[in-house]
Amino acid sequence: MARKYEGRAVGIDLGTTYSCVAVWQEQHSRVEIIHNDQGNRTTPSFVAFSDDQRLIGDAAKNQTSANPENTVFDIMLWPFKVVAGVNDKPMITLKYKDQEKQFCAEEISSMVLTKMREVAEAYLQSPVKNAVVTVPAYFNDAQRKATIDAGAIAGINVIRIINEPTAAAIAYGLDKRSDFDGKRNIFVFDLGGGTFDVSILTINGDVFEVKATAGNTHLGGEDFDNRMVNYFVEEFKKKNKVDISGNARALRRLRTACEKAKRILSFAFVTTVDVDSLFNGIDFSSSISRAKFEEINMDLFNECMEIVASCLSDSKVYKSDIDDVVLVGGSSRIPKVQDLLQDFFKGKDLCKSINLDEAVAYGAAVQAAILSEGFKNVPNLVLRDVTALSLGIEANVECILDVVIPRNTSVPVKKTKRYSTAKDNHCSVPIKVYEGERARAADNNLLGSFFLSCLPGAPRGQPLDVCFSIDENGILTVSAKEISTGNMNEITITNDKERLSTFEIKKMIEEAETYHLEDQKFLRKAEVISGLDSCVYNIKNALQKKDVYSMLTYQESEKINNAITVAMNLLDKNNQQKEIDVLEGHLKQLNSMLENLKVKTG
Ligand code: AMP
Repeated sequence: MARKYEGRAVGIDLGTTYSCVAVWQEQHSRVEIIHNDQGNRTTPSFVAFSDDQRLIGDAAKNQTSANPENTVFDIMLWPFKVVAGVNDKPMITLKYKDQEKQFCAEEISSMVLTKMREVAEAYLQSPVKNAVVTVPAYFNDAQRKATIDAGAIAGINVIRIINEPTAAAIAYGLDKRSDFDGKRNIFVFDLGGGTFDVSILTINGDVFEVKATAGNTHLGGEDFDNRMVNYFVEEFKKKNKVDISGNARALRRLRTACEKAKRILSFAFVTTVDVDSLFNGIDFSSSISRAKFEEINMDLFNECMEIVASCLSDSKVYKSDIDDVVLVGGSSRIPKVQDLLQDFFKGKDLCKSINLDEAVAYGAAVQAAILSEGFKNVPNLVLRDVTALSLGIEANVECILDVVIPRNTSVPVKKTKRYSTAKDNHCSVPIKVYEGERARAADNNLLGSFFLSCLPGAPRGQPLDVCFSIDENGILTVSAKEISTGNMNEITITNDKERLSTFEIKKMIEEAETYHLEDQKFLRKAEVISGLDSCVYNIKNALQKKDVYSMLTYQESEKINNAITVAMNLLDKNNQQKEIDVLEGHLKQLNSMLENLKVKTG
């Protein structure tokens, strides 16, 4: 029986383009997708820094065109500056309050997670400490750990990480399972903004078992947008003899227009793309047909289909045995993608019934409810997921990858394999752990390494056991034991390049708190300024009433006029005197004058 966590946990779909948070509603025995402060059910995964404030979500997205260098959106596109940090970790460089600041990806993700936590807390009216967070199925070990770190910085205990297509299948399966007659094979096709995932699951009563998963963490809607951007950059070059490819602002504005055009092409056959004063005052106006859009993206669409075929062959489920093909992710709305998929499954109808933008958070919320103590009427459901990549060690002499856990093995899992030392007089054996599908170890992703001490002076061939263990979150621990001496060593794989140390996380939590306080201070100030502005307006209005000056003494009217002048100065954007205490003090004084005026003038 899995451990139950205290309190009410939420499900968060932390997407590359949009994020969504949901919670189990016990009164209605269903999941509630939570609206954000703008009333939207999804929140853009955008973070921006302006001269005087930090913005997250809709507010950050809305100012992107004006401030592209200091807006972080999809981590793959990067008009913002990226530099190498400690251990070559990529750091994002942004300007905040006139100073250059560096952030790692986990910090940016943590800001989006903080926003989602706040959205949930506002709805539940209680603190949210625990969450199930979804990741693309093809995320590697280090990316999963980075997600847990991002949660920690945001003050969220990530109680489970689940794969996006699995979460979507939970949403689909729960909705439909009363109609299922026995075992059902489901193919989930999840093409989002930045990632592509496919999974094959078998739903049998309460058991949701993933059979195979495949994908590409760098393939999605933004790639299609980029192709269109490049197409129009070339067109602009031909027409106007200028290259805009080095201008972040122009590119960002063109990309926004292209993304809109792409969406339109999902239901129209042709559309226009217009951007006023795109570059050096030159307006851009052009059109693109659906056929052209398909042509410039065809290789990417075909890549999706190759991944579909490889997942099916890994799962050992016949194409004809797939009962439902379920579409998830905004980019699966593209008609050509749907046509190719339907052709692949020999004309089978595609299930479009689940909400593409919300299904993943829905599934995560169900899993969160199952894992927490705070809910009633939770559905029965057992989830069995698989590893996305093969895991193994470098076999000594040949330098090949010797696989201990093949990809698509059910997790949690623990496997031990016996090896032997390759040389005489080995003092210690290096154990290098890799993930990937290539034969030569060095062609795969090195996750980490450690040394195991051996019996001094022993001949080669000394036996040693290497044990791989993967927990429910897909996180790996590798241990090794030399049999003759009983010497042991183990690591929970930490990819130094991508993983943060406890010290770094602590530092970032403190910084997150500072940003939060600054955000609050900024909002408070904005509130007082707006209060001051409307108070001045109301007093001025009151003073326009007939005979009002006859009801005031000379001193009183002088005092009011002086107070208005001071307020106008404080409200002047060029005036630096904007200490919040001064503003609040003056607002108080003006408010009481306004009250007096109201009493006097009735
Ligand atoms: P997701 O990450 O699942 O929210 O997917 C977002 C991606 O879906 C973005 O790249 C959107 O541009 C894309 N998208 C949303 N709606 C459509 C549509 N109607 N046609 C094509 N792409 C779309």
